[in-house]
Amino acid sequence: MVELTAAQLMLHQMVQEFSANEVRPHDMAIDRERSFGSDLYRKLVDTGFLGLMLPEQYGGAGFDAVATAQTIYDLAVGNASVAVTLEGHYKTLDQLLKYGQPSLLDRYLPSATQRIFAFSMTEPSGGSDHSTLGSTAVRQGDHWVLNGNKIMITNGGLAEVYCVLVKTAPTEFSVFLVDQDMPGFKFGKQENFLGLTGTPIGEIFMENVVVPADHLLGKVGQGHEIGDNAHADARVLMGAVAAGIIEHELELAVDYAHQRKSGGQRLTDLQAIQRKIADIALAKETTALLYEEAARHKAKGQPYAEIAAMAKTHGSRQAVRAGDDTLQIYAGYGYSLDYPIEHLIRDARALEIAEGTVEKMRAEITQLEVAQRI
Ligand SMILES: Cc1cc2nc3c(=O)[nH]c(=O)nc-3n(C[C@H](O)[C@H](O)[C@H](O)COP(=O)(O)OP(=O)(O)OC[C@H]3O[C@@H](n4cnc5c(N)ncnc54)[C@H](O)[C@@H]3O)c2cc1C
Repeated sequence: MVELTAAQLMLHQMVQEFSANEVRPHDMAIDRERSFGSDLYRKLVDTGFLGLMLPEQYGGAGFDAVATAQTIYDLAVGNASVAVTLEGHYKTLDQLLKYGQPSLLDRYLPSATQRIFAFSMTEPSGGSDHSTLGSTAVRQGDHWVLNGNKIMITNGGLAEVYCVLVKTAPTEFSVFLVDQDMPGFKFGKQENFLGLTGTPIGEIFMENVVVPADHLLGKVGQGHEIGDNAHADARVLMGAVAAGIIEHELELAVDYAHQRKSGGQRLTDLQAIQRKIADIALAKETTALLYEEAARHKAKGQPYAEIAAMAKTHGSRQAVRAGDDTLQIYAGYGYSLDYPIEHLIRDARALEIAEGTVEKMRAEITQLEVAQRI
């Protein structure tokens, strides 16, 4: 594990305990009920999770990228949907802190300790290629008027504040903040997704939503840069979610293989099973090393887009594969809906798509490698 300061260590121990006592016992119910429920949500807010990485001037705890990623990991060991809800919130706050105008931050960020924020790029026309986006913002005096439809938004429906990537000219993209209370803002349907079912993921509509000029993040035309930055921030945390899922799988695999006997031997004594457990443990360590390194780079102000993409590319596949190995160790029970393994695989599978597909990330990693070497 990455070396933590005394404050980070205290946070880590608190979150580990919270995850074990308040999250893991509800893991199966969260998946089946497709919600982590208002009680757990209230506890997350009251414990201070929403403001964890927010600077103290806005009422947050001011933890850095290392502590934030560690927190997401600890929560994901309990349940990935809970961790992904916070991932969506934190990556949005990161963009506001980096690109938001001071007047906007003063108005909105103090409330981010109590309400969820979301970042929204994808539309029905596609998520990988932003040039296809149809949502628009048109300047009218001191204001902008936004129109469009966004889908598959992590926290869509739960979040009260949204950063949206829209066109400000045919080939020019910008990001604006919109509030659910603004006239013309409407929620659409919830996605009927295979995994991460406890995370609200949904759709919004904007019909002539009027926002003040300071709701523009960065400058006009900076939308792609902000979107890429949001992906990099999200991928550090998605690497942590993947590592958390793998740790959950490892705990289940070791526990069962230690108890279950075949031919008078524990499964842990069988070479075929040892190979699977060793592979799961290796997957956990390699994924953790990658996301921790990405978080360390970010905390030190060093470039982290590539290592973050590596953490999510590697971790998401490993989490699916480790889930498959765990299922095989449990065999018939593993194939049963009465055990949690199948939902861990479904949860892990989402990580190969959300915050940039693995194909898109491999293309980005290749471009960065070429740029460094040629
Ligand atoms: C659980 C979950 C949470 C999500 N949360 C959010 C969110 O908070 N905000 C948000 O805006 N979106 C969110 N999304 C949407 C997600 O970002 C998109 O699904 C993703 O970007 C892919 O877009 P698409 O589904 O339109 O697929 P497409 O872009 O249509 O891609 C289809 C296929 O083509 C491949 N492909 C496309 N372009 C390239 C390329 N250039 N190089 C290589 N392969 C390529 C893809 O990898 C994929 O296999 C979420 C999705 C999921 C599953």
